Amino acid sequence: MTEAAIVKRICAQNGSISYDALISMFGLFDEALDSVVARSESFTVAFVNGQKKVIARSKVRLCRVQNCPGCANLHLCKLFLFGSCRFDRGRRGCRFSHDLLSGQNALVLTAHGLNTLDLKELCILLMQSDYSLLPAVCHSYNNGTGEYGRCPDAENCKRLHICEKYLRGFCDCTRAHDFYEPHPLKTLQDRGVTAELMAVMKDLYANIEVLKRHSKAPAAGGPNPRRGPNAQNRRPSSGFNAGRGQAAQKPPQTNTGSTYMLLREPFPPLNKKLYI
Ligand SMILES: [Zn+2]
Ligand SMILES: [Zn+2]
Ligand SMILES: [Zn+2]
Ligand SMILES: [Zn+2]
Repeated sequence: MTEAAIVKRICAQNGSISYDALISMFGLFDEALDSVVARSESFTVAFVNGQKKVIARSKVRLCRVQNCPGCANLHLCKLFLFGSCRFDRGRRGCRFSHDLLSGQNALVLTAHGLNTLDLKELCILLMQSDYSLLPAVCHSYNNGTGEYGRCPDAENCKRLHICEKYLRGFCDCTRAHDFYEPHPLKTLQDRGVTAELMAVMKDLYANIEVLKRHSKAPAAGGPNPRRGPNAQNRRPSSGFNAGRGQAAQKPPQTNTGSTYMLLREPFPPLNKKLYI
């Protein structure tokens, strides 16, 4: 059993799995599994609503640099990663790579032990590791009363109007608890989320909630070398990168009465040395 095999199995289960299920899946003793997941930066182990869970994560990112001369990130179309690129069907085609096995991409994936992941497994892993790929949950919507809470943008908000407490467990408040409600559905579709991926949004956002709380590393949009002033990969007409970097603007959250408990050290700060 290798770290890569565990990552693949977890990604096939929508990005997280109970510790017990992982043990029985690989026929391991606690100590053997601990020796892999506890020292690896590919996993976060946490108690979620009383259950010990293992969540997969990665430092791999999509490159956003126009005409990049070469870097340690994936050169891949985000919409292709999500499963459906509408530009591919146009007369001029898509200007981003749809080749997961290109020289650059194969090298990056192999270096991170991700070369056995299929496209959907990789998509799951990246969506819950790079917080810029999906719209952030609207914090204002989750505060105050009324249909939109304190969100000043109301119906026009590009962030996700979904109940944060629901993402952490059970909740019976009046906020949205369904990703298929009109506003969350449109917000996600505008960012390229396909019908197939809609089915895993609850799992992914629940995983992101845990990972954000457990990582002190700069989130997407932070002091990451790839996100310079020239960072792009956006299509103004589609707006699928709208809201990018929002996660980095939020102050670090402290664990205030949540059901999460950190069981291992968070990521060290991202820096160039970590990118091969
Ligand atoms: Zn690049
Ligand atoms: Zn494309
Ligand atoms: Zn909002
Ligand atoms: Zn709620």
